[in-house]
Amino acid sequence: MRAPAKLNLHLSVGQKRADGFHDLKTVFQAVGLYDDVELVRADALSVTVSGEGADEVPLDDTNLAVRAVHLIADRTGNDASLAISIRKGIPVAGGCAGGSADAAAALVGCDALWGTGLSKDELAALGARLGSDVPFSLHGGTALGTGRGEQLTPVLGQGSYSWVLALTAGGLSTPAVYGQLDKQRETGPVGVVRDPADVLSALRQGDAVALGRALGNDLQSAAVALKPALRLLLETGRDLGALGAIVSGSGPTVALLARDEGHAVALAASLAGQGVCSAVRRADGPVAGARVVEAR
Ligand code: C5P
Repeated sequence: MRAPAKLNLHLSVGQKRADGFHDLKTVFQAVGLYDDVELVRADALSVTVSGEGADEVPLDDTNLAVRAVHLIADRTGNDASLAISIRKGIPVAGGCAGGSADAAAALVGCDALWGTGLSKDELAALGARLGSDVPFSLHGGTALGTGRGEQLTPVLGQGSYSWVLALTAGGLSTPAVYGQLDKQRETGPVGVVRDPADVLSALRQGDAVALGRALGNDLQSAAVALKPALRLLLETGRDLGALGAIVSGSGPTVALLARDEGHAVALAASLAGQGVCSAVRRADGPVAGARVVEAR
């Protein structure tokens, strides 16, 4: 299976709810940076992880792919004895839904392997129990997320967008970033969930310049407070001519929007020479959600 990374083109965070999650409105876009996941029938459930940041991914029952296999096996009465291999292409703890991608890949893989007959909505409901971003990792494309991010509506749009992703060593914990935002709001403005009207209009028109201007993320100030180096990275991206620069989700990955593919190549090369991030990747979006790419 192959599952994409996500960016949040708009992420507006409201108040903390009684269940500990925050109400939000977000516009997700799936972009062409992938985790590959393989499932093989085995005597027991196991997981191995390779690729960049692999040593930071848990190999116990907290691994999201392991949790996904347990969950769908229990729901459908199948045997969870599978050897899971994950090849990470999505930054670990980077705000790009890498763990959610692995969970989504495991769900679609088990569904195909066992012929469960679950509908897309049923798979998404299982995904939502694993994490707020898992339904979107299944969905792909561009979508509006509400609730805690798990309720999705497809977004109409045209064109493809060229992104440059600036990776930073040392991930950020999503709960820690939300916690930092809550702390900032004890003394600053309270959280109000805003509509992504400008982002949706830019997407409808396929206007990268307008999209660059409209990008917004309420978690950005919290991520920058926890990792001050992100401020220079965002500024450098804008100085190098990005149409927009934003922390992806809870960070620390920074997404820079380029005018087109040629501009993205140039932007990526210039950024790599500045020494402000640990690695640079290019990814176009939107792309499809988690899917089976090869069955043997
Ligand atoms: O759903 P997920 O497992 O990705 O969430 C991880 C953590 O991020 C939650 O436990 C919560 O602290 C925070 N979160 C939140 N509001 C959301 C999504 C996540 O507070 N809408």
